[in-house]
Amino acid sequence: MPAICYWCSIKGTSVISNPLGKQDHPFGCCYNCHVLACGYHAVRDNAAKEFVCFDCDKNNLCKMVANIAGVADNSFTVRISISPHDILLKLLKELGLSGQLILPQNFPTDVSTFYEQRPGYKVWFDKFQVNDFSNQSFTSQLINSGVAYDTRLVLEELPYHAKGLLIAAAIITDHMYTGSLREEQPELLLDLAKALHKLQK
Ligand SMILES: [Zn+2]
Ligand SMILES: [Zn+2]
Repeated sequence: MPAICYWCSIKGTSVISNPLGKQDHPFGCCYNCHVLACGYHAVRDNAAKEFVCFDCDKNNLCKMVANIAGVADNSFTVRISISPHDILLKLLKELGLSGQLILPQNFPTDVSTFYEQRPGYKVWFDKFQVNDFSNQSFTSQLINSGVAYDTRLVLEELPYHAKGLLIAAAIITDHMYTGSLREEQPELLLDLAKALHKLQK
């Protein structure tokens, strides 16, 4: 029997915008979760020289957001009763990543680097015509497009680069997950995805 792509067989996903090879013809194993994947469901990180599936890319982006925000070491500023820290902990829990904040070596710490290293996502990222998703005016537009309270709080309080990485995770979530797999995705990412729809050019 020929090898098949894990994500192609799941059927709860869409495909990457700028794929390589043929769909359901796996040519690599995800460096992180070890599933066999085709070029429609995984992208090669050109800098790290690692093949990573979209699901792990999204999870790693969220982990990096939490790392930058100081969730791991509890240094994030707590200003009001529900803190962005709590919201990020909830996000990690929903992703099944509680207590697992270790990232691959050299994982991008800002969205521009992530963008350069992952050519597969280029089409989606280009839709917004912004060089930097962390940019204050872009995040203000997102906030003003009617996001939930938690989303607003996170966008207002996150350290600069973390905002852009969270937005990149929401873009991947929005384009890749369909059906019940989408419904299982964290509310924060889906809420951001809804707001991002309104800003697409
Ligand atoms: Zn596939
Ligand atoms: Zn993976």
